[in-house]
Amino acid sequence: MEIIAQNGCGVDAAEIIKKTRADRATVYRQLEKLARTGEVQEVMTGDGKKRYERPGHHHHVICRSCGRMEKIDAQKAEFALGMVEKRVAGMVKFTQVEHNLEFFGLCPPCKAHHD
Ligand SMILES: [Zn+2]
Ligand SMILES: [Zn+2]
Ligand SMILES: [Zn+2]
Repeated sequence: MEIIAQNGCGVDAAEIIKKTRADRATVYRQLEKLARTGEVQEVMTGDGKKRYERPGHHHHVICRSCGRMEKIDAQKAEFALGMVEKRVAGMVKFTQVEHNLEFFGLCPPCKAHHD
């Protein structure tokens, strides 16, 4: 799935279908398979839609209005979140605690539209 490799962040199935003109069922089947084998990861965007991207831990800020997605590079935040994970793990006696965090806001074009 080169489309995912090219786009980097948060491609949804509809976009892939549009670009490849592939059959809907085929695309979904492919994506499921790739997600299962870990070649792509699923991103939940809070609007109930699943998106797909290359694996690798990072976070996004997603526009509440148009769904645009930006990658966030947050090394410092990651360190802090690691501490939170340790605390959580200690509190509930879980191991392998991870986090999944997305931010929501209004992107510049949508803000302009809003004003
Ligand atoms: Zn991403
Ligand atoms: Zn927007
Ligand atoms: Zn993180």
